[in-house]
Parts: sequence; structure tokens; C-alpha cells
Amino acid sequence: MTNIFAFGDRLGPAKVIHVYEPNVGLKGILVVDNVARGPSIGGLRMAPDVSAEECFRLARAMTLKNSAAGLAHGGGKSVLYGDPRMPVEQKQRLIRAFAHALRNEHDYIFGPDMGTDETCMAWVKDEIGRAVGLPAALGGIPLDEVGATGWGLYHAGLAALPYCDLRLQGARVAVQGFGAVGQHAARFLAQKGAVLVAASDSHGTLIDAKGIDVGALIREKAAGRSVCEHALGEKHPVDAVIDVECDIWIPAARPDVIREDNAHRLRARLVLQGANIPFTVGAERALHERGICIVPDFVANAGGVICAASEYRGATQSAAFEALAERVGANTQETLQRSKEARITPREAAVAMATERLERAMSIRRFSIL
Ligand code: NAD
Repeated sequence: MTNIFAFGDRLGPAKVIHVYEPNVGLKGILVVDNVARGPSIGGLRMAPDVSAEECFRLARAMTLKNSAAGLAHGGGKSVLYGDPRMPVEQKQRLIRAFAHALRNEHDYIFGPDMGTDETCMAWVKDEIGRAVGLPAALGGIPLDEVGATGWGLYHAGLAALPYCDLRLQGARVAVQGFGAVGQHAARFLAQKGAVLVAASDSHGTLIDAKGIDVGALIREKAAGRSVCEHALGEKHPVDAVIDVECDIWIPAARPDVIREDNAHRLRARLVLQGANIPFTVGAERALHERGICIVPDFVANAGGVICAASEYRGATQSAAFEALAERVGANTQETLQRSKEARITPREAAVAMATERLERAMSIRRFSIL
């Protein structure tokens, strides 16, 4: 078994709990990484191949994201071993048993992640009362339906424009991964004058330099079709979206899609990272040296967790959207300004910003180790 403490450092993890109940086939792990800013919020991931190390890395990412976002929450994550497409009764039994086993871990608030959704969060809420990302019927804000992360990406874009000498009016946008995040980001940007020139999904890339009708393409996807089944525009292979000449490139699909071996193909001036860790560190450095401005994932895509934290406090959707816009915009501005002044990459600047905020919080806690 992995020794998770081998990955630990001065920030965490604060707590690691392994849950094992063979009678119900339950095997899961909770990592509470850091709670200096408040109880941790982080998703419950369900997959057959999760690991303690992955859980820790995801929990750390949440620590930085929540701290950068200025939330009164630390970072945590939980993983549950199993196929998320198992029969729903079995899935409900497992998730309820996992939540029950963690009922006294008040330093952790469950949220949805890969393999879990708002119905799963409703089971957790029913079981122990601590979950975000709930169905509207339980006072939740349906994050993917309203486009919380896309709204954040739009505001990251607005704040970044002056740093790359761009105007939104007429800016050409390419989206890799036209799913929940990608669609809403494209919709908000297009509403303010940007032009979607390319969109991809796992089947291929649609390119139209004259501009794609975003609403029509969203309806196409809602009907279960690929972007490549759209009547207009050219159809290309999945990876062709990387080569599209544009002003704003939005990765909103998978990790590590831009690496040292293909970073040279990207021809954009601004990147808004919707997906988590979509670029390798080396690729980000190479693009930074080429003058491409990158707003890193945990700054640009924090809209979902900011909205979830607002939901936890009973805020309305409009209040959550207002807070989200302000925070993502201000953090993008601070990240890019620090990057410019200190001549470091935006990711280095964002990590420094998040860590400083965290250390300030840690220094006033009873368990301070600074
Ligand atoms: P989603 O499943 O709704 O959409 C993903 C899209 O990517 C789909 O259209 C899929 O066909 C496409 N895709 C998959 N592989 C691809 C590939 N190789 N090339 C091009 N397209 C590909 O998922 P989502 O909720 O939009 O999340 C997208 C990413 O953003 C994920 O990495 C997720 O972890 C991250 N993220 C999501 C949120 C959120 O609020 N949903 C918040 C923060 C981060």
C-alpha cells in the first residue's frame, strides 16, 4: 500500500482515513489535506482504479484552489473504489455506507466529481448532512446546468485581455472538449462579441473561420450528437483543434493534452484552462517563453467550487454568480500581474499567491507549524 505521508509537506495532509467494509464491498479513502482556512471541500471520485496517491494530489489541488479563491474552506478529496456505472441500488448502498463511515469527519464536506453527481450528493446529505452540489430540490445550484465554471472562465478571460493586448469583440475562440465547461464558456464569450471558430469533442473537431453558431451547436450536443455532425463548417480529427489559429484557446477536456511534444502547435494568444492540469509543466513554460498568456486551471476554473461554497451557505444562484465573477476576475488579475512583475510563469505566481494566503491562515491557527 502507498505510504501517503511520503508525499506530505508542511501544508499537509492533515488526515488520511482508509475505510474498509468487506460486507458491503466498501473500500474508500478520505484525505483532508489542509483545514487552516476552514472545513475542507472536495469531490468524491468513484472509479475502479483510484489510489491514495491520486486522492492526495487531488486534495492538494483543492487546498490551492480554495485558498486562491479566498474561500473559508480547506482542501480535501475522497475516493471510492468501484465502477460508477454499477446498478444504482448498489451504488447508493456504497455511497451511503462511505458517508456514514465518515459521519464524524466534520472537517470534510463532500462534493461531486468524476463518477458521482448531484443524486449521489443528495444521498450523502440525507445520510450525514454535509454535501454540496445538491439537486435544486434540496436547495442546490445545478453547477453544470447553469454553467458556473464557464462563467468563471469568461471572467478570467475579461481580466486577462489587457495582459495580451486583446479585445473581446471579434476575438477568435477555440474550445477543446465541448462539454459542460466548454459549452458555457463559449456561450458567455460569444454573448459579448467573441467568435467561436473551433470546437472539439471525443469524436473530432469542427472548424469554421466564419464563426460557429454557439446556441445551435449546444442544441446539437444536447441531442446526443457530436460537434462533427453539425451541418456547417469543416470536420477534422480530434487533435486538429490544437492547430487552429485563434486568440483564445480553452482546454476543457482531459489532463496533459498539451505537452512538450505538441506545445509548438498551439497558435493562440491567451489560454483559459477549464480542465484540470491540461498542460504539462514543461509545456506551460515553453508557451510562456513564447509570450502566450496562460491562466492556470485552479485560478480559471474555480467557478464550480466558489458556487458550491456559496450553496453551502444558502446563497442564491445570482449571489453566487456575482461572488464568483468578482473572485475569479481579481485572482486572474493578481496572478498575471505577479507573473509579469516577478518574471515567473502564471502558474508559479498563482501557487505563490495561494500558498501565501494559506500560510497566513495557518499562522493564526492553534496548530500553527510555521
Ligand atoms: P464533460 O464530460 O461535460 O465534457 C468533456 C468533453 O470533452 C466532452 O464533450 C468529451 O467528448 C470531450 N472530450 C473527451 N476527450 C476529448 C479529447 N481527447 N479531445 C477533445 N474532446 C474530448 O466534462 P466537464 O464537466 O465539461 O469537465 C471538463 C473538464 O473540466 C474536466 O477535466 C473536469 O475535471 C474539469 N472541471 C470541470 C468543472 C465543472 O464544473 N464541471 C470544474 C472544474 C474543472
